[in-house]
Amino acid sequence: MANSLLTDASRRLDRALKYVSISEDAAERLKAPKASLKVSIPVRMDDGSLRVFEGYRVHFDDTRGPTKGGIRFHPQVSLDEVQSLAFWMTFKCAALNLPFGGAKGGITLNPKELSKAELERLSRGYVDAIANFIGPDIDIPAPDVYTNPMIMGWMMDQYSIIRQQRSPAVITGKPVALGGSLGRATATGTGAFYVLEAMMAQLSDQPGNAGKTVAVQGFGNAGSIVARHLFEAGYTIVAVSDSRGGIYTPHGLDIPSIQKFKADTRAVQAVYCDESVCSLVEHDVITNEELLSLDVDILIPAALENQITAANASDIQARYIFEVANGPISADADDILDAKGITVFPDILVNAGGVTVSYFEWVQNRSGLYWSTDEVNQRLQQQMVNAAEIIWHLAQTHKTSVRTAAYVHALTSLGAAMDARGTRADYVG
Ligand code: NAD
Repeated sequence: MANSLLTDASRRLDRALKYVSISEDAAERLKAPKASLKVSIPVRMDDGSLRVFEGYRVHFDDTRGPTKGGIRFHPQVSLDEVQSLAFWMTFKCAALNLPFGGAKGGITLNPKELSKAELERLSRGYVDAIANFIGPDIDIPAPDVYTNPMIMGWMMDQYSIIRQQRSPAVITGKPVALGGSLGRATATGTGAFYVLEAMMAQLSDQPGNAGKTVAVQGFGNAGSIVARHLFEAGYTIVAVSDSRGGIYTPHGLDIPSIQKFKADTRAVQAVYCDESVCSLVEHDVITNEELLSLDVDILIPAALENQITAANASDIQARYIFEVANGPISADADDILDAKGITVFPDILVNAGGVTVSYFEWVQNRSGLYWSTDEVNQRLQQQMVNAAEIIWHLAQTHKTSVRTAAYVHALTSLGAAMDARGTRADYVG
């Protein structure tokens, strides 16, 4: 376990513990997940054969409320990855003051190899396997990498069939037609944009945004939305990428055109679209490694974890990094980036817009009262900017990295909740 993702994630906790007065018992309890479930999901494939997939659901900590966290469909999904993602969710919900603990789930597969019907059978089979581990007051899943509202809709439906009652609050990120929240699909990117703008306003040496250059790794749900907001606010997006590689032009990419082209073809291409006609513009094709080391003002990793490690951190030239992906920077790389004077704004703050609007969705499902997009976005902005400002001031007060300050903020509220609940758990045996 020495090099596990969870061990690496826990190192951030150790750093923050120096600045927080929480009991040793509380700190000890946060070092390992509360419960980890591993399941086998048999799926009848379209050709009649049977394939058995491996899936996981992990509850990391539920002191502050029912656990919350997405479900990932990806070939690299492992128990270690799911546990570390559940760890991050615990601190993210606490940092944003959402009444949830942390969880995560995943299935190890390449979803691009499955037909839509196979994907639906797999999604329903996963819910069959974890149904007693989730629930509106127990653990509430949501989308993550390569899962989407359609999959959340199937899962909610399957859970409702099992419980024999309609249970929209069991899962968030659903289609709006099935009780999803307006603004949820764009929430992670929009929330990241609110944090970025609030933080740039704090950095008084950097007035105005026009001309600030940005590179975005990963042009999916989260990355494409934050790129779009930044484009509209006057930033110059010089590079974007997906799993196949990246595109670069110093003059700036037309993000709405790239989004449109991707929606039509699934490919990320340097295009400019006039009405429905898209044509290629001059650009360089770059690798994801090259994108990360571009000389830009702002770098936004928005793909997967461990993209910046001790092996490439010294190549990074950006001035600011906003972690839209979960865990894109390893703990060793933190120190190298810090020594280079690069300010990192951490995942548990920057990408918390998704879980924040998931919380709004859960509230709407339980109250039966649905909000407008404007209302959702106003509440999102308020919640994100408030957390960002508290964390920024903590970083100044303790003279720590913004990441450590975010953990300090989260730990303070987690520690208070643990101590308030008393020591019952220590005596059960
Ligand atoms: P997504 O599946 O919509 O998009 C992922 C993108 O990353 C795709 O463009 C894919 O091609 C690209 N990608 C995959 N492997 C890559 C690689 N090796 N190099 C470069 N690009 C690669 O997923 P998403 O929902 O946008 O999630 C992206 C990240 O944001 C993940 O770390 C996820 O945990 C995090 N996140 C997402 C949400 C959300 O609400 N969607 C919320 C919080 C955090």
